[in-house]
Amino acid sequence: MSTIEKVAIIGSGPAGLTAALYAARADLEPIVFEGYSAGGQLMITTEVENFPGFPDGVQGPELMDRFRKQAERFGARLHTVDVDRVDFSQHPFRLWVGADEYLAEAVIVATGASAKWLDVPGEQRLTGRGVSACATCDGFFFRDKRLVVVGGGDSAMEEALFLTKFASRVTIVHRRDEFRASKIMAARALEHPKIDVIWNAVVKEIHGEDGVTGVTLEDTVTGETRLFETDGVFVAIGHTPNTKLFEGQLELDANGYIVLEDGVSTRTSVEGVFAAGDVADSYYRQAITAAGTGCRAAIDAERWLASRE
Ligand code: NAP
Repeated sequence: MSTIEKVAIIGSGPAGLTAALYAARADLEPIVFEGYSAGGQLMITTEVENFPGFPDGVQGPELMDRFRKQAERFGARLHTVDVDRVDFSQHPFRLWVGADEYLAEAVIVATGASAKWLDVPGEQRLTGRGVSACATCDGFFFRDKRLVVVGGGDSAMEEALFLTKFASRVTIVHRRDEFRASKIMAARALEHPKIDVIWNAVVKEIHGEDGVTGVTLEDTVTGETRLFETDGVFVAIGHTPNTKLFEGQLELDANGYIVLEDGVSTRTSVEGVFAAGDVADSYYRQAITAAGTGCRAAIDAERWLASRE
């Protein structure tokens, strides 16, 4: 018979590791399934300049290493494995890693979200060197530069508007002839003097050696291709919450994000299962907000466990 863990945490970005830190300090000896892509989205970011406490900035992977050490210092047990299956229909909750079964009284889900990428030549190689999926994280590095934003939804509008603070020109490349974004966001972008739009176009390739120099655009109507010069590419074609594991177990919204009780708590549709970070947040999506909800999830789990004693 497996031992019953007090708290199991799935995920190891800022949300999961902050939850681990707080749960460990509450003597809950959390077990953390950090996954094979441990550390979350910050592992693919270079310089992080907006995380409080680091006035000179910090590299994303280094920041996550610090989160990790701090959680481990207080007894969090980190396992570099992916949870393959869960059963939240009975208590204690059941989790499987391959054939190994784990039991837990409370679970904190912090599996995050993944930016969607274009999957074109040059994109992966130049990520962090001119290609980004986060204007709030990387926009600052593009002062007086020419930028391309790919996408036609609210995220693309938001990214483009944010980037006008730094860039000399922002060109939105959209695959159709109208935006999916809300009217107000689209109007703001279209009216902005620094923003222009290339309609009916897709990026086929991103060029550059150490930085981005241009993109190949293909006209979706005529099929013609051309080279377009730019110093950076921001991909804003949406995020996918990492919730496949929880389908049929937790209530998810139409976009696959975990639904939280009252919209703002960390309580999910299953009592004793809490969620933190981007897996339940399509709006703020920042490391600091993820860390904040990770803290709240650990406190909520601790109080919920105490209330059952
Ligand atoms: P989204 O609404 O799904 O829009 C994604 C956009 O990317 C669409 O315009 C889509 O084109 C385009 N796209 C998708 N795959 C592509 C590909 N492979 N190549 C080229 N273009 C591609 O995603 P989102 O903008 O991230 O928004 C997600 C949700 O969050 C929405 O509900 C949105 O309203 C909300 N949100 C709100 C705010 C705000 O209110 N401030 C800010 C951000 C997000 P098509 O249009 O042709 O499908």
